[in-house]
Amino acid sequence: MDLNEKNLGDIVSLIMKELEKKDITENKECDIEDGKNGIFSSVDVAISKAKEAQVILFASKLELREKIIKSIREDIRAAAIELAELAVEETGMGRVNDKILKHHAAVDKTPGVEDLKAFAFSGDNGLTVMELSPYGVIGSITPSTNPSETIVCNAIGMIAAGNSIVFAPHPGAKKTSQRAVEIINKAISKAGGPDNLVVTISEPSIENTNKIVKNPDIKMVVATGGPGVVKSVMSSGKKAIGAGAGNPPALVDETADIEKAAKDIIDGCSFDNNLPCTSEKEVVAVDSITDYLIFEMQKNGAYLLKDDKIVNKLCEMVMKNGSPNRAYVGKDASYILKNLGIDVGAEIKVIITETDAKHPLAVSEMLMPILPIIRVKDALEGIKVSKKLEDGLRHTAMIHSKNIDILTKYARDMETTILVKNGPSYSGIGVGGEGYSTFTIAGPTGEGLTSARSFARNRRCVLVGGLSIK
Ligand code: NAD
Repeated sequence: MDLNEKNLGDIVSLIMKELEKKDITENKECDIEDGKNGIFSSVDVAISKAKEAQVILFASKLELREKIIKSIREDIRAAAIELAELAVEETGMGRVNDKILKHHAAVDKTPGVEDLKAFAFSGDNGLTVMELSPYGVIGSITPSTNPSETIVCNAIGMIAAGNSIVFAPHPGAKKTSQRAVEIINKAISKAGGPDNLVVTISEPSIENTNKIVKNPDIKMVVATGGPGVVKSVMSSGKKAIGAGAGNPPALVDETADIEKAAKDIIDGCSFDNNLPCTSEKEVVAVDSITDYLIFEMQKNGAYLLKDDKIVNKLCEMVMKNGSPNRAYVGKDASYILKNLGIDVGAEIKVIITETDAKHPLAVSEMLMPILPIIRVKDALEGIKVSKKLEDGLRHTAMIHSKNIDILTKYARDMETTILVKNGPSYSGIGVGGEGYSTFTIAGPTGEGLTSARSFARNRRCVLVGGLSIK
């Protein structure tokens, strides 16, 4: 080709146009991927930004982590009503007032940096210190049932342990989860923390969740959800924490304070319309006190269904192909009854009915305020039935009894992560019972009620031949 001045000029302007085009597209991608307040369109960009933030956090003093956590606690407390209302509106599940309490529990009772206790060996050979060190970037998969509560609680614990977090929320709780991430990011920034310590993606999906789990920069995966996601992270080949489903029974024997047991059970079962994995999902009652227990439950907001035909109709309505029908998960008892043709007031919080131990309502984790009651001849039979209903999930169980031998046998035999004696289920997560709160209860992988130390690696530093003053 003959390169004269004219066609050289044409070539240059063509190249300039191409470069401009490229610039525009790159900038466009960059705008989206930049991720205002930690929300990114690209999984890979979100992870790389979180990785940069974690390096800054780990290089900073623990004092910064403390400031960040204090700021998150303050700002989420201030936004508790907004987040609770948004979650109920978006997911169509649960009760606003109970969700406010859940946010307060996450804010007030999730342990921070103080949870990272060091351990030492010392002697003639010197001093060895065991310390809890960050993993790096954690991928945290969160549920639709406690969307923002889980994000808040995990963010506090995971940051306390020095990590950054990429949240993979349930698509059905996208807005609530993104709003929580947004508030947390602003709180971190206010406290002088790095940008993008807590990030998420603009379009949550199972595909994007799997991309997060597989990314080599994700050093730990934490799944809070049903059996599918727990199985998936446990087979990811990475350090995984799995917090899965439960089917908690409440056993009541003849020595219990029946009036209190009835109230505790209804309070626990109706809390957030039974969405918590820890809530009472069925009652196992010793025959001699069952009628009185039912009577007391009715005094505390239970509606008793006696007619088998209506119970069968209820079953057809709230179950779909053997699983809970999502249209009724987390709904008010009065709404469920209305769809059954029964009109009741808002004072009705739970639907109760007597069933056998194999009934679908008893063996499935329904996540709605329907409570089957199973009669047994005595407490020992009750323990066996409760164990069967819990189905080896090792999650949560309640007992109402004053017999020390029965309390002990139940606690040993049930093998659950949480065992509540003489109280409502939520006292097991620090609401009205001693101990801290968490919304990630890891039965399958054994961490139990997770806190900062669950999100940290145990590392050993050995100084040979000195520093011991024994
Ligand atoms: P879910 O299992 O439908 O979803 C949970 C999360 O996992 C979501 O982010 C979802 O997108 C993702 N997910 C689901 N299947 C997946 C798969 N195959 N691969 C990758 N990601 C997947 O649960 P949900 O309905 O949102 O929440 C209710 C369930 O979670 C109940 O079973 C409840 O008991 C359980 N839960 C357990 C705890 C606990 O601490 N143990 C806490 C809250 C909820």
